[in-house]
Amino acid sequence: MAAGVVLLAATPARPAPPRVLVVTYSAGYQHDVVRRPAPAEPSTVERVLADLGRHSGSFDVTLVAAREELDRLTVASVRAHRAMVFFTTGELPIALAVRQAIFQSVRDGGGFVGVHSATDTWYTIPEYRELLGAAFDGHPWHQRVRLVVEDRAHPATRQLGDAFEITDEIYQFRDWSRSQVHVLLRLDPHSVDARRGKRADGDYALAWTKAYGRGRVIYTALGHEPAVWADGRFQEHLLGAIRWALGGA
Ligand SMILES: [Zn+2]
Repeated sequence: MAAGVVLLAATPARPAPPRVLVVTYSAGYQHDVVRRPAPAEPSTVERVLADLGRHSGSFDVTLVAAREELDRLTVASVRAHRAMVFFTTGELPIALAVRQAIFQSVRDGGGFVGVHSATDTWYTIPEYRELLGAAFDGHPWHQRVRLVVEDRAHPATRQLGDAFEITDEIYQFRDWSRSQVHVLLRLDPHSVDARRGKRADGDYALAWTKAYGRGRVIYTALGHEPAVWADGRFQEHLLGAIRWALGGA
């Protein structure tokens, strides 16, 4: 017995990295970046997130993209994850108890990372809107744009400088209020034809954080284009977002 104790004390096991639940099921429009080339082959989003977690040693992923994977989620399996990443669309067919566990685990201090069409999801669930802080309201622009970095200290944006240019599909939102969120990135309205957007004030936030209970919610509207997922700046942005959501950054 004593030898066993000594052995354990001499070679302390490194704790396993926290697990992140990555949900890329599309109940509505399916983006190319979440389409698996074959059932057992990860999509672009899954591969990039798994690699970011593995290479940084920050987290391991559980991948949920197919309907049968979604159906296998339980209250216990959801709660075994310290954070979730959603790149989803439409009305996700998740059982009520599991859905409530998703919201409760964030309220209890978990992390939630919404990416791109996460805002184009669960329009019928007010609780989800409250968690994320906005609903998708079209994409007036799909072009090269300039983004202003409002928070240069946040782990998700501190590597991006004052501003940067990127080519992507650019969302606008409804049910969004600057007073309810902490803005990380906003569109420079001078970099687009602002008349195509709906906001008179030109205030198009494209990434923010938000409190939800004791949880950490972060959203980035970027990520439509495959080239964005291959862009090291976006990958750093995501890694910072996930680490922050995990509470470690
Ligand atoms: Zn899109």
